[in-house]
Amino acid sequence: MTLVIIIGCGAIGAMTAYELSQVQGLQITVIDKQPPAQAATGAALGVMMGIISGKVKGRAWELRQTSIRRYETLITELEEITQGQIPFNRQGILKLCTESEELEKGQQLAEIRRSQGWQLEIWDADRLLSHCPHLSDRFYGAIYSPQDRQVDPTALTHALVTAAQGNGVTFKFGVNVEGLATSDGGRCLIQTNAGNMKCDRLVIAAGLGSTELTKSLQKTIDIRPVLGQAVEYGGVSLGNQEFQPAITTDDIHIVPVGDCAARTRLRLRDCAARTLGERNYWVGSTVEFPTATGEIVADPRNLQVVKEKAIAICPALADGAIVKQWSGLRPRPEVAPAPIIGHMPGDDNILLATGHYRNGILLAPATAQAIRKAIA
Ligand SMILES: Cc1cc2nc3c(=O)[nH]c(=O)nc-3n(C[C@H](O)[C@H](O)[C@H](O)COP(=O)(O)OP(=O)(O)OC[C@H]3O[C@@H](n4cnc5c(N)ncnc54)[C@H](O)[C@@H]3O)c2cc1C
Repeated sequence: MTLVIIIGCGAIGAMTAYELSQVQGLQITVIDKQPPAQAATGAALGVMMGIISGKVKGRAWELRQTSIRRYETLITELEEITQGQIPFNRQGILKLCTESEELEKGQQLAEIRRSQGWQLEIWDADRLLSHCPHLSDRFYGAIYSPQDRQVDPTALTHALVTAAQGNGVTFKFGVNVEGLATSDGGRCLIQTNAGNMKCDRLVIAAGLGSTELTKSLQKTIDIRPVLGQAVEYGGVSLGNQEFQPAITTDDIHIVPVGDCAARTRLRLRDCAARTLGERNYWVGSTVEFPTATGEIVADPRNLQVVKEKAIAICPALADGAIVKQWSGLRPRPEVAPAPIIGHMPGDDNILLATGHYRNGILLAPATAQAIRKAIA
C-alpha cells in the first residue's frame, strides 16, 4: 500500500481525494484545519469560464476543456453515489458585449471552438433581448456558450468528500499541519497539532496555506491572497424562468442559484416564491489586491461598485433584497502562472495542486487527473 496524504479539503483537495480513491493500492488521508469548503472554495461563485474563455491552446486551454468534459459526467456520478443533489446549471454562460469589436472577436473564437469540437453562438441585440428581456438594452449583443457550466462549490465539495469516504478515504478535520520534512528514505513527515504522520506521497492542496507549508521544506512556493466580495440578492424575478444561464460581462457575474429542490436551506416560504418566478442570484466579485504592507481588508466601496454595475446590467435586481454578503481570498501564485500542478522541484514524493486563483472550481477535475497521473 502506498500511503498518500492530501493537505487541504477545498475543491482541489476533495476532487483529488475522490480521483485518487479510484486507484488501486493507495491508502489516502485528507487533512484540513477546518471543515470542508471553508476557505476560497466556500466563497466561490462556481462559474466555469471554459469554452467562452479566451484561452485557445496550451496548458491553460487543455486544463479547461478536460475539466468541462469531466464535469458533464461527474455531477451525475456524484449525485448517484451520494443520493443528493448538487446545484449545477446546465444552461450555459452568456457573455454580454458592449462593443462591436467584442462580438467580432467572439466570432473568431466561435470558429476556433468549432474546429475544436465545441459550440459558441453569436447573438445580436434583438436575439439577446428576446431571450433575456430582463437585461439592459445597452448591449451590442452577446456570446452564448451552451456547454459552459456553473456549480455550487460547497455542495460539490461535500459530495466529493462523501464519495471519497465511500471509497475508503479517511478525512481528518480540525487538524492543522504545522511543518513538513522529508526523511532519508524519501518518506514525508507531517507535523500536526494532533501528532506526527508519515506518508509515501504528499499532495499540498492547501491554497493560501501552501506558502507556509512549502517554506518549512525550504522551497517556498509564494501564493498571495486576492480578495473577492460577493452578494446574494433574493426574491427577484428576472426574465424567462426557463432560460437562466450565468451572465457575465466586465468581470461581473450574475448567477441564478440552484433550483428549489436542490437548495435544501431554502425555507418553504421561499419555495412558494420560486413557483411565482422569484429566485436568488449571486453577484460578484471584486478583485482586491493586498496593500504595500501586505494588508488585505474587504473595502465596502468596491462591493458597492459591483452592485451598481450588476444593477446597470439587470435593472430588476434593484428590487431584490440582499440576503447575504461575503468575501474570500483567492490563492494567486506570485511568480508562476496559475495554477501550480505537479512535482515539487527536486522532490518526486511531494506534489503541488495549488494557486488556482480565479478558476479553482473550474480546474479542479483536470488538476485531480494530473495528480493521479503523477502518482500512478
Ligand atoms: C469571491 C470568489 C469568487 C470565486 N468565483 C469563482 C468562480 O466563479 N469559478 C471558479 O472556478 N473559481 C472561483 N473562485 C476561485 C476559487 O474559489 C479558488 O480557486 C478555489 O476555491 C481554490 O480551491 P483550493 O481547494 O485550492 O483552496 P481552498 O478552498 O482555499 O482550500 C484550501 C484548504 O487548505 C486548508 N489548509 C491550509 N493550510 C492548512 C494547514 N497548514 N493545515 C491544514 N489545512 C490547511 C484550508 O483550511 C482550506 O480548507 C472564486 C474565489 C472567490 C474568493
